[in-house]
Amino acid sequence: MRVAISGLRELCRSFVHLLYPSTCAVCHEGLAVGEEVLCTACLYDIPRTRSWNSPDNPVAKQLWGRVPVEQACAYFYFAKGSRYQKLLHMLKYHGRRDIGVFLGQKFGQELMGSALYADVDVVVPVPLHPRKQHQRGYNQSQAIAEGMAQRTGWRVESNVLFRHRFTQTQTQKSREERLQNVANAFGVRRAEHLAGRHVLLVDDVITTGATLEHCVQVLVEGCPDIRVSVAALAFAGGS
Ligand SMILES: [Zn+2]
Repeated sequence: MRVAISGLRELCRSFVHLLYPSTCAVCHEGLAVGEEVLCTACLYDIPRTRSWNSPDNPVAKQLWGRVPVEQACAYFYFAKGSRYQKLLHMLKYHGRRDIGVFLGQKFGQELMGSALYADVDVVVPVPLHPRKQHQRGYNQSQAIAEGMAQRTGWRVESNVLFRHRFTQTQTQKSREERLQNVANAFGVRRAEHLAGRHVLLVDDVITTGATLEHCVQVLVEGCPDIRVSVAALAFAGGS
């Protein structure tokens, strides 16, 4: 039996290796022992924003006057044509959930060193539309949140903030109705799980900030005494 289990384990390992070949996701060079997902050089060169060290950074400024957030930051700049752009693409469309966990760990490590995030309790991933999650097989923001939690010890809470399952087709609606639909896309249940907490809301990329804005709104309105900070893996709002 023991032999069978170890054989199975070996088979799983080979299968994982097949799924996640041991080459760097950015430069495609072979990974050295101890490296995963990115080689040391590509990891070193990620255009980090360092926005977690300052309260008035470009990510935070994008949300100012829109919703009450404690802090906001992103891990790296997401520039079109950058060799790091494909990381998000692989995470979202090519089954590379491991990229989200790995970068979430690195991001979590940085946040641990910032006094601005010292009293965060819980990480809440932005939920995907249920249909999209079914197609993709996972929520990429959940993967990032899990990686963060592994390094910070924060709890991941995925059952409070949810996305409504709209059935009507969007194409029949006017522009205003569609915008309204997006604004009403999120809801909160079992709010007591987040009451009184400092929550870090996590998304893969912040572009206009609209999704995060709606999520913060719903959390603040639905959960008593909650404080919300925001962290995106990538910031596409300009550098
Ligand atoms: Zn590399």
